[in-house]
Amino acid sequence: MQKTHSLPIIVLAVLALVLGHSSATDVQDDSFSGQVILEGMIHLGDNTTPEWEEAAAEPDGLGEYVFKFKDSIGDSERALAFTTRDAHSEWVVKINGKYVCTLKHRGEPSEFVVPVPKGIIRKGVNTFTLSTEKSGDDLTFGRVKISDEPYSEVFDLRAISVKCVDSNGSPLACRISIVGSDDSLAKTHFADKSPFPTRDGVVYTNLDGIAEVLVEAGDYTITASHGPEFSIDQKNITDSGEMSYDLNFNLIHEVDTTGWLSADTHLHTYTHSGHGDASTDERIITLAGDHTEIAISTDHNKQIDYRPTMKKHGVKDEYTHITGNEVSTDLGHFNSFPLPADGAIPDASITNWALLNKEIRDKGAEVVILNHPRWPSFVKGPFGVQELNQETGLFTSGIDLAVDAIELINSDDEGSPFDVSIKDWFALLNAGNHVMAAGSSDSHAVYVPTGLGRTWVKSKTDVPSKATQRRIAANIRDGHSSAALGLFGVVEINGKGSGEQLKQPMSGLNLSFRIAHASWADVYHIDVYVNGEVVHQIEVPPHKDIAFDKTFNHTLADVEQDSWVVCVAYGKRPGAWWATDFPELYFASNPIFIKK
Ligand SMILES: [Zn+2]
Ligand SMILES: [Zn+2]
Repeated sequence: MQKTHSLPIIVLAVLALVLGHSSATDVQDDSFSGQVILEGMIHLGDNTTPEWEEAAAEPDGLGEYVFKFKDSIGDSERALAFTTRDAHSEWVVKINGKYVCTLKHRGEPSEFVVPVPKGIIRKGVNTFTLSTEKSGDDLTFGRVKISDEPYSEVFDLRAISVKCVDSNGSPLACRISIVGSDDSLAKTHFADKSPFPTRDGVVYTNLDGIAEVLVEAGDYTITASHGPEFSIDQKNITDSGEMSYDLNFNLIHEVDTTGWLSADTHLHTYTHSGHGDASTDERIITLAGDHTEIAISTDHNKQIDYRPTMKKHGVKDEYTHITGNEVSTDLGHFNSFPLPADGAIPDASITNWALLNKEIRDKGAEVVILNHPRWPSFVKGPFGVQELNQETGLFTSGIDLAVDAIELINSDDEGSPFDVSIKDWFALLNAGNHVMAAGSSDSHAVYVPTGLGRTWVKSKTDVPSKATQRRIAANIRDGHSSAALGLFGVVEINGKGSGEQLKQPMSGLNLSFRIAHASWADVYHIDVYVNGEVVHQIEVPPHKDIAFDKTFNHTLADVEQDSWVVCVAYGKRPGAWWATDFPELYFASNPIFIKK
């Protein structure tokens, strides 16, 4: 195929060399003024890619592309803009042999602007190199432009420094959300070079409660949060020409969760799962900021030990770690833990759930959870494929569910509404499955908080590092736990809690439901279910902006058959800092079983 597109590139580069700066295309687009140094798009790699219309189907090179450009300004900080698609391998941009950036993978042609520090571009001829050590990866790259002005002036950057403490004045690791007046995520800069996990709209502090971030000039609401047990603290800044802001945040522990720890049963890193964007180092820091007390690593078909990275970052009492595995089959994903980091990996080619369950337990796991049963859609998720009947709780395929729990709340699976998930679960319970509910985040990315969906786990100790893996796993497996998004609760009947069983007593069934939340959260409605039927409803009086902790009591009618009781609470979702599209807050207790 004739590579007509590459001609202007060569012409441009040659012209730039021969004629100097004035010959190169000086353009003013909507982001900044500067010099275009590579006009078209090139294709590097070893495959034919006719579907990539922006560049030639045949490659212009294998693993390296070099061209020269002339600069008339000379040594100063600049911005470099370019467009790229499908950089899977580590593709590095260098100017004059000095590192500028590593390309990020995007499925579509996407524009990036990166800073070029002072000391790289020189007056006169410069050499631009794009290369990878792993040749064979196909990508497109081009539309490269260098700004005349420094990067920080191009974007009119403002520095925000934060310090977060708790009510004792002790440093507190926090998630800092930064949204504009129209609730848009603040554009952040130099994220790659920051020691603080940073993405548009968010930065996490270190364990000392400190973070710094560069954003574009504007008006912002900045929110410090530390999971569902703590208050938030918010500051508004308006752009008055100040170049930097020092903000102090003070968060209060508002929800008493004595006797319970919170687990995120579903966590990924880009490092080990290959999608999303959170490196293992970033994940270790975000877990502390989100106050996720039990962090269960579940990369796809891998068993990753977080502890060396936790040690590197000084994590001790902030949270504890359990190594797990998201055993990812063609017919469902199964979070399994604990599993030895150096142990054998369960065979993910098994799609019979009972056989898979045995395979996973043989490798050492004590808990198996079926994840996101309706993802990627109601019909294409495992419950759709196996045709779960939401009335009978039976699978048309006849498959045996064979797991300990299902994800009732996966805060990154916003396509599965809570009312659908709960209908599935209740049908399964009514069909006689001893299956518990779990909550998780499924976070792969820094922007997606850990522990947003979370599982509250009964615990003898309130210090995460003192809780044993075995005890945590047993309590999740046996339902001494609950699933939640933003709320905390405890349900008891005659002193028996979630996952426990009692015999119908002569004295009656006295249910108590304690529901609690921090001052930014809300609860407005509670349903009490017996065997999937609502037997009692509570409208909670409005109580804006206060920490809430109340116990509701109700006497249940005597049961006429073996029964199960679940309490569910709903709250209104908080503002734009709350990073999920789920429309409400939820709490669901695991069942208490009553023997007739
Ligand atoms: Zn999954
Ligand atoms: Zn996952």
